[in-house]
Amino acid sequence: MNCQHFDETLADGDVGSLSPDVRQEFERHLLECADCTRRLRELTLTAEILKGFGSYEDLEAPAVLREPLVQRILEARRSAGSGQRINRRA
Ligand SMILES: [Zn+2]
Repeated sequence: MNCQHFDETLADGDVGSLSPDVRQEFERHLLECADCTRRLRELTLTAEILKGFGSYEDLEAPAVLREPLVQRILEARRSAGSGQRINRRA
């Protein structure tokens, strides 16, 4: 998966319905690509801010942000520091 494909997947906002193969690629790309991770995190932050304003439910937040998978990856990124080795599943 490349960045463009990742963007398209993200725009669909429905990671939960991806095929296992695509889902795995999505996850792998997140682990390997700092740019896409940053973009995803910005989306997450935006959603959290909107939630704080109480208008969150009026908006269509990408379903991807509710994915436990995505949250787990962002967590892994956080605890891995910047550009350091990260745990990846085999
Ligand atoms: Zn990327």
